[in-house]
Amino acid sequence: MELDNRAIPLTRGQLDIWLAQETGDSSTEWQLGLLVKIEGALDRDALEWAVRRVVREVEPGRATFDERNGQVIQRVLDDPHVELQFHDLSGSDDGLEEVHRITSSIQCAPMPLSGPLFKFALLQTRADEHYLFTCCHHIVIDGFALGLAGQRIASVYSAAVSGSPVPSALFGSLQDLVDLESEYEASDDYLDDQAYWTQNLPSESEPSHRLPNASKDSEPYRPSAPFTFDLVLRRRVDEFSSATDLPRSSVLTAACALLVRSWFAETSEVVLDFPVSRRVHPESKTLPGMFAGVIPLVLQVSPASTVAEFCAHVDKRIREAVRHQRFPVHSLERKARPRSLGEPTDRVGVNFLPSTTAFSFGGAKATASYTNAGPVGAFGLIFSGVGDDLLLSTVGAAQPFSDFDVAEIAERLGRVLAAMTADPVRPLSSIDVLDAGEHAGLDLVGNRAVLTEPDPQRLSIPVLFETQVARAPEASAIRFDGRGLTYRELDDASNRLSQLLAERGACPGQRVALLFNRSAEAIVAMLAVLKTGAAYVPIDPAHPDARIEFMLDDAAPIAAVTTGALADRLAGRGLPTVDSHDSLIGTYPATRVSAPIADDLAYVIYTSGTTGRPKGVAITHHNVTHLMGSLDEAGLPPGPGQVWSQWHSYSFDISGWEIYAALLRGGQLVVVPESVARSPEDMRELLISENVSVLSQTPSAAGMLSPEGLESVTLLVGGEACSPDVVERWASGRVMINEYGPTETTMWVTTSAPLNAGSSVVPIGAPLPGSALFVLDGWLRPVPAGVVGDLYVAGHSVGVGYMGRAGLTGARFVACPFGQPGTRMYRTGDLVRWSADGQMEYLGRADEQVKIRGHRIELGEIQAALAGLDGVEQAAV
Ligand code: AMP
Ligand code: MG
Repeated sequence: MELDNRAIPLTRGQLDIWLAQETGDSSTEWQLGLLVKIEGALDRDALEWAVRRVVREVEPGRATFDERNGQVIQRVLDDPHVELQFHDLSGSDDGLEEVHRITSSIQCAPMPLSGPLFKFALLQTRADEHYLFTCCHHIVIDGFALGLAGQRIASVYSAAVSGSPVPSALFGSLQDLVDLESEYEASDDYLDDQAYWTQNLPSESEPSHRLPNASKDSEPYRPSAPFTFDLVLRRRVDEFSSATDLPRSSVLTAACALLVRSWFAETSEVVLDFPVSRRVHPESKTLPGMFAGVIPLVLQVSPASTVAEFCAHVDKRIREAVRHQRFPVHSLERKARPRSLGEPTDRVGVNFLPSTTAFSFGGAKATASYTNAGPVGAFGLIFSGVGDDLLLSTVGAAQPFSDFDVAEIAERLGRVLAAMTADPVRPLSSIDVLDAGEHAGLDLVGNRAVLTEPDPQRLSIPVLFETQVARAPEASAIRFDGRGLTYRELDDASNRLSQLLAERGACPGQRVALLFNRSAEAIVAMLAVLKTGAAYVPIDPAHPDARIEFMLDDAAPIAAVTTGALADRLAGRGLPTVDSHDSLIGTYPATRVSAPIADDLAYVIYTSGTTGRPKGVAITHHNVTHLMGSLDEAGLPPGPGQVWSQWHSYSFDISGWEIYAALLRGGQLVVVPESVARSPEDMRELLISENVSVLSQTPSAAGMLSPEGLESVTLLVGGEACSPDVVERWASGRVMINEYGPTETTMWVTTSAPLNAGSSVVPIGAPLPGSALFVLDGWLRPVPAGVVGDLYVAGHSVGVGYMGRAGLTGARFVACPFGQPGTRMYRTGDLVRWSADGQMEYLGRADEQVKIRGHRIELGEIQAALAGLDGVEQAAV
């Protein structure tokens, strides 16, 4: 083996791959493969000779790489050793399976860039059936070049076995290739291309992260087995393309864009990765080296445009992009979207492989297919043609569906194509990727029927509470700090306070602030406010003064209830304040003042706001009572006989869940004192000594608590994503349920089936009986099961909106197209997908909201607070 001493610089495309390979962790994604099936007998020696000869002809393929003094260079190996591995599989039961196994192991063995960067293998499956496998690194060769080399091996072999002279090769050299690229970079074409792309980059807001990664696949770059579209559809596509005078590939790309649109939140722009050969110069067409690249295809999809208009737009975009295909677009994009060089994007790629014309190995018919044609974004759709057939394969580390195969994608694409070709003037918005059966299935799991059921009886919280008082007046309602209150005592105490509050002006339409640590008094005060018809506004004493002040200004309560120790925090505002221990309360009668109606507000709870202003979520009595009335049906522990803990701060709506699920259903509530709530060990002792049977915790709190001695509790977690570790720790031998819900839709809207230890996914579950859930794309259209979409919630849990913030309310509580006119649904901002078992899986946020130990925080709020500090001009969180 001799080294040619000439050091040749790398082209820009090669350098991109070199950097990606050196910095990336996946070392074999750049190894391309071509598998040629040869139907006939073969002369192995002649084939080996042909392979050796073609390696000598394909100079760029013999390059090796080396870094010296910070410079990467390539050199050509003059006479490398070429081996044609041979595998006789003719005795094997499943020869093709063996072919895949062996070629895949070759493909997955990393080839160091120090070279040589090619491998050949011949696999014999029958006396008259062979497979020739070529694996080559993309840094020296691209898919097109691999095809050139494959064809050349066939013609050299054919000449050899027939004894005819070998036709001469017209391949350019590596230096030719480098020269062509540097000529381009110094040309006006380059400037022209640069100008085009500067004007036509994807918008900066292009969303990503909607395609989750597949669970480990050792070879995500190997295309799936191809799916053959049915002939009728293929003909319709061809007729459509001749009627509209557009190439078939443009029509197929348009269909892909419509399919992909439904996988992303995009409403107006779909960006596809479009692999291009970059072989514009005639000389490049006979140069078996690395030219290829990927350009972004930026498509505008508007629901109102017609199929014909859209196809014409796609075609125009493709032609423009192809005209400017040589430009390294990612060098401009990098500024907008930081991402390392050459790294595959998180987009979907659409690739059209040249149709493989069958060729011949000395008379034996040969057909070639790529085992890796080069990276195509996070997920790729690869079209190829064999004869009359149109084939589709999928490839990539990401996956749009949780469980899918190429046939499913092809079926959806087929549905889109059928709709497109049936009516070229239909608007894009009328094209559905779902069939009727899928719609019905989604309606069922999502509980859509709740939106059309007759309106149920609407009850207020006091009415529901009073039925429990009447049912068992002497039953224990609350335990706190070693003391207890029966249902009758709780009713009396809250009645007296409500009399006093009513006298001070509390009534429907008004608000009363509650400033309390966890305590029995706090719960008496809540019921008292509710009984007057006013809404309570819980304020956590742990909040800083500025936030408390903001809430008081914003909610404008007519009075506050607190304890003597905390009253100071409210001083100086002229706000009438009642001390819950004031003996004056005892002088009021223990009778009910008035009855609120179910549509009055029950409470206003503040959550973080993106602009820096927290927002008050307004929830009605009906929101709460309907939820509580549905829990038995949902399979949650019943009220009577159960002991619920009350651990959450009152500024979380989950505290309401603990309180009402116990007290409106005849259960007992154990209020966890402040000091105990902070100590997992004290907490555990309290749970045991008070015989708590239903424990509600954030997953992070459950993660700190020891399950020992708590074998008989039912654990309810929610408020933030629950990790499998926490399930591992708690789920065995105990019922553990995951719950999900935003404050805007009243505590919880889903509950999971009992969780099992050992599963890697922790579902958030299925809708509670009063809620309807929709997983939608950016056009508010349902996405198929398994596809990630935005979660919208409709039904009895949907709150009134944000107090005093009509604009914000209108933006998040939107018209629901799936119910009667006037139905609203709440856009949660959560990304979810339906699993096959009818439960929902949570995949994260579509925005920048985060959860810290269950606390909901908008990064925008922190940013606004930082930017407001003296001396801070700009802030980023
Ligand atoms: P909050 O309004 O404080 O209840 O916060 C609601 C948000 O918390 C939801 O929009 C989710 O982002 C997150 N969340 C609540 N429950 C869960 C859960 N079980 N799993 C994952 N995220 C959750
Ligand atoms: Mg919640």
